[in-house]
Amino acid sequence: MKFILHFLFSFFPFLVSAQTDSFYLLKPDRVFDGETLHTGWIVLVHNNKIEAAGEMNFKLPANTRVINLKGATLLPGLIEGHSHLFLHPYNEVSWNDQVLRESRAERTARAVVHADSTLLAGFTTVRDLGTEGAMYDDVGLKTAIEKGVISGPRMIVCTRAIVARGAYGPQYNNADLNLPQGAAEVGNKEELENEIRIQISKGADFIKIYADYSIGKNGEAAPAFSVDELKAAVALAKSTGRQIVIHATSAEGMRRGIEAGVATIEHGDNGTEEIFRLMKEKGIALCPTLAAGEAYRQYNGWRKGIDPEPPSVVNKRKSFAAAIKSGITICMGGDVGVFTHGDNAREMELMVDYGMKPIDVLKSSTSVNADVFGYRDDIGRIKKNLLADIIAVTGDPSADITNIRKIVFVMKDGKIYKEVQ
Ligand SMILES: [Zn+2]
Repeated sequence: MKFILHFLFSFFPFLVSAQTDSFYLLKPDRVFDGETLHTGWIVLVHNNKIEAAGEMNFKLPANTRVINLKGATLLPGLIEGHSHLFLHPYNEVSWNDQVLRESRAERTARAVVHADSTLLAGFTTVRDLGTEGAMYDDVGLKTAIEKGVISGPRMIVCTRAIVARGAYGPQYNNADLNLPQGAAEVGNKEELENEIRIQISKGADFIKIYADYSIGKNGEAAPAFSVDELKAAVALAKSTGRQIVIHATSAEGMRRGIEAGVATIEHGDNGTEEIFRLMKEKGIALCPTLAAGEAYRQYNGWRKGIDPEPPSVVNKRKSFAAAIKSGITICMGGDVGVFTHGDNAREMELMVDYGMKPIDVLKSSTSVNADVFGYRDDIGRIKKNLLADIIAVTGDPSADITNIRKIVFVMKDGKIYKEVQ
């Protein structure tokens, strides 16, 4: 029977795909194609792909639906570079309590809601940086979205982050407690390699490692793995076509990751000119997570705009300026989940506030993220044959980045999820 079905489907594919083709013609005021801004452009979508982008110099296929987006800028669907769909803001429930006191079912239910609000905010892809105690549930969430059970962004997932034994949380400074942890603990190189193999088998698209954590003698960030351990991780992941990305806030944690050849460094708060020079040499990108840094301080009582900026924010402004000056590749990723899902644009606004040009922030959020994460053939640009992940906003976000919040149109994979008439 199996053979007969296979035979039928391979010789008569129309038996399974009898639906008619769909065409959309999108007519905005301007198009940001992932790299530059154009006027006088239209975009034609055929099923789930971009069929044409540029000046209108062809005959419209019959049955094309024309969508006028007057006053709007059309962009590639935005790519969130650092999300945690399984977390919600820590001023609602602390991270410790989310990991210890919320059931996996509750966390998944929340993640479903987060996925929907992310997509409607114009973020058609997320690189999710770990479930923080919810095991491999990101893979299940991604599958449910792909099957159309729920609506949400495309997901690039890493399952559980990997940490050195004892170098993560929750912790309550009680030597008698052995609590469930928010990531996978490993004690040596063999365990690290073993964990990577397990995560790959469970569906990880990339691997996240905490290269440092607050395990210094005085609670400061200190390296958690050796260069050799990180090198072994990179070699193993690479041989299966996957990236290693690291959490690192200390200069030494970053330096070890750079030497090992990781793909991206998350946070990088204490990056120096020298560190950024090394990143530039090796082509390693920085995902700065400015929004999370500010959110932590605000949860600890900082009244932004009223109180002076706390030392960590002042320091981050300085290191981010050095990063821009060094010419390294900068991703857009806010660590959303620490703050509200759907408010992803907060990171883009802060990148401008901290010194980047709006057009560069738009690039980071589209073509740069797609290139760095290894998805340039599918997403991140308005270009023929790429997937039809397209959004539109009122006004011009390259002139005023806050316009990126004025979403009037969201299409993912050729399907419209939001259309403001
Ligand atoms: Zn994170």
